[in-house]
Amino acid sequence: MPAKMPVLFIGHGSPMNIILDNDFTRSLGDWGARLPRPKAIMVISAHWLTDGTFVGCMDKPKTIYDFYGFPRQLYSVTYPSPGSPGEAKFVADLVNKTPVTCRQDWGLDHGAWSVLKHLFPKADIPVFQFSLDYSFNDWHPKPMQYHYDLARELADLRDRGVLIIGSGNIVHNLGILDFENMDAEPYGWAREFDEKAKKALVSGNDKALIRFETMGPSAALAVPTPDHYLPMIYAIALRQKNEPLTFTYEGFHHASISMRCFQIG
Ligand code: ZN
Repeated sequence: MPAKMPVLFIGHGSPMNIILDNDFTRSLGDWGARLPRPKAIMVISAHWLTDGTFVGCMDKPKTIYDFYGFPRQLYSVTYPSPGSPGEAKFVADLVNKTPVTCRQDWGLDHGAWSVLKHLFPKADIPVFQFSLDYSFNDWHPKPMQYHYDLARELADLRDRGVLIIGSGNIVHNLGILDFENMDAEPYGWAREFDEKAKKALVSGNDKALIRFETMGPSAALAVPTPDHYLPMIYAIALRQKNEPLTFTYEGFHHASISMRCFQIG
């Protein structure tokens, strides 16, 4: 039996981090060097939003450049890791809550490869993605509790040696970000919400994180849309009772993006 794998949540922030050498990207490199080597990696990225639930079943997932208007240099970086069709198909069979369908036409979006590039720079560990069902019913997205319950069905993967990574941002407001200055002083409401989320993570108060909109007025600014918050919900759902949670990075980029990262287990 392989060792039980930890679960990671990574605040990925700007695609510029792909090529930058900063505190955040260095923390990813150090983190990757400390982690046990997984058999495969499954990434739940804020950037694969689908109508229904899918897994990537490619042998060789392509690097997807799903960002626009950035320096040309970013579009020549690749992450040529193999895929893991076997583990992806295992996931499709594992989940009972909803049908999970194999896809051959996705690959690795920047939510996945921009952080893997620093975490596992050799790109020699098989990677596949699990999508986020972003379908709307009568103008309502699927509730957080739905995603939390779905994520709990993925727990067996940890015992198979698969490293699960949620990649998003706990605070993510692109409408009012300071685009020019990555090190801009964070907004007060961004700090406030990030601190509240930290407290809930430390105390294992998953209910509070699921019902984030009850965390006060800062919540609406911190999580204007659920896409980047959702991968964090998947990570906490996979935490076992009394399992340690460690923050590997705390900080903000562009004033309105929390780069908080943590490891469970
Ligand atoms: Zn993103």
